[in-house]
Amino acid sequence: MNPESLMMSYGYKPELFAGAVKSPLFLTSTFSFQSAEEGKAFFEIAYGLRTPEPDEELGFIYSRLNNPNLAILEKRLIVWDGAEDAAVFESGMAAISTVLLEFLSPGDLLLTSGPLYGGTYYFINKVLPRFGISVVEFRVDQTKDQLIEIVKSSGKADRLAMIYIETPANPTNDLIDIEMGREVADYFSTDEKQVYVAVDNTYMGPVWQQPLKNGADLVLYSATKYIGGHSDVIAGACLGSGELMSRVKKLRTFLGNMASPHTCWLLSRSLETLKARMDIQAANANRVAEFLLTHPKVERVCFPGTLTKEDGMQYRIRQKQCQTNGGMISFDIKGGEKEAFQFLNALKLIKLAVSLGSTESLAEHPATMTHVDIESPYKEELHITEKLIRVSIGIENYEDIIYDMKQALETVG
Ligand SMILES: *Cc1c(COP(=O)(O)O)cnc(C)c1O
Repeated sequence: MNPESLMMSYGYKPELFAGAVKSPLFLTSTFSFQSAEEGKAFFEIAYGLRTPEPDEELGFIYSRLNNPNLAILEKRLIVWDGAEDAAVFESGMAAISTVLLEFLSPGDLLLTSGPLYGGTYYFINKVLPRFGISVVEFRVDQTKDQLIEIVKSSGKADRLAMIYIETPANPTNDLIDIEMGREVADYFSTDEKQVYVAVDNTYMGPVWQQPLKNGADLVLYSATKYIGGHSDVIAGACLGSGELMSRVKKLRTFLGNMASPHTCWLLSRSLETLKARMDIQAANANRVAEFLLTHPKVERVCFPGTLTKEDGMQYRIRQKQCQTNGGMISFDIKGGEKEAFQFLNALKLIKLAVSLGSTESLAEHPATMTHVDIESPYKEELHITEKLIRVSIGIENYEDIIYDMKQALETVG
């Protein structure tokens, strides 16, 4: 079966829950055991004190460890990425920070792509160094040999523990080659030490890009975005092999940042329409990008669909890694902050708000909003300038989205 067909019921057994076609919401903090022996067995498995017998499943104990809504969602979510296991969190930042804390130790080196989501950038560059972790960064269009050189010249090549990639990058839509990340990780891996590749797949996943298939070890999501898709819930997820996910889940148990039953229930419901929503968003984005490309008040459009063979590496990554052009468009308006604000203030249908991936279209100004924390001139080097506008395309009729942008652009000047 195709993933979109499995999203209605996979991982849920109505016969266990009074025949309810849809999963009930399990608002309970604790679960009663049928016997003391059963309680003992559940704890042995939950704490990894013995390996489960074949067919033996972890029973429910306490909702910080597990809950039916969490279990159903995690089982369903792995289908798209072809992962062995998933862990769902109360935010994307909770998923990202838990993974970084689990796989990095004092003295280790982290190699990241740039730009990164503002919150991730802050955690990596302001919080991790307090725990003795060093960070080096590479830029879009740098080659494998250049990445290897960056790691070597840090003087800590033997301590490289993880490569962290965000692709397409927020807010510029720059593409990073996940396979290249894998090759660099393998180059620095030894028999004793495996270098892991983690990919933030929020912009394209899980429907249009599956990083595990390109060699990533861990996939991360802000499930607040496309997966949730209705701007009504904050959530995050991490997916990967059973072995790595058991480490992630163990730390999650002790940080206590798992998703609540209600969050999981909302996300399970959202997964049913995920493919339908994302397909409409991608089709709409193609039309909107086409409109922007020829508009006289638009200087530059950053969208995978506008890449051509002349763009070289970016075009090749688009072809091998992404199944559509996505639903996110960034563009430079002619002028600066004044013109960008005139455009944003004149929008009627498109909401002036941060976040992305929802049913409604959203527009924002990265330089003064989501990415305000990034220092100049580094910010400008990444092309996060005063004239950059980021738009998340929703599922409205594309003619109305274009009409709204057109009338807003007319007010500029
Ligand atoms: C929103 C976002 C995050 C953070 O997720 P939250 O759910 O807001 O904690 C991380 N990465 C990317 C690419 C994002 O867009």
